[in-house]
Amino acid sequence: MEEIKVLFKCPICLEKIPMILDLLEQQPQTYIEDCAVCCNSIQISYNCENAKAKNFQASKAYG
Ligand SMILES: [Zn+2]
Repeated sequence: MEEIKVLFKCPICLEKIPMILDLLEQQPQTYIEDCAVCCNSIQISYNCENAKAKNFQASKAYG
């Protein structure tokens, strides 16, 4: 399993948060993750391409 570490800014508290991404498949990945700082839910989405994460996005999760 390939894993990479990314640093992104939480859309809610604006803190920089490190996160491990699994590079399992080429399909776009979308899931909800809790912010380690503010504990709010963040929707994470990215594509895997050549063992790298592309189009990484973190947005506020609703619901
Ligand atoms: Zn946060």
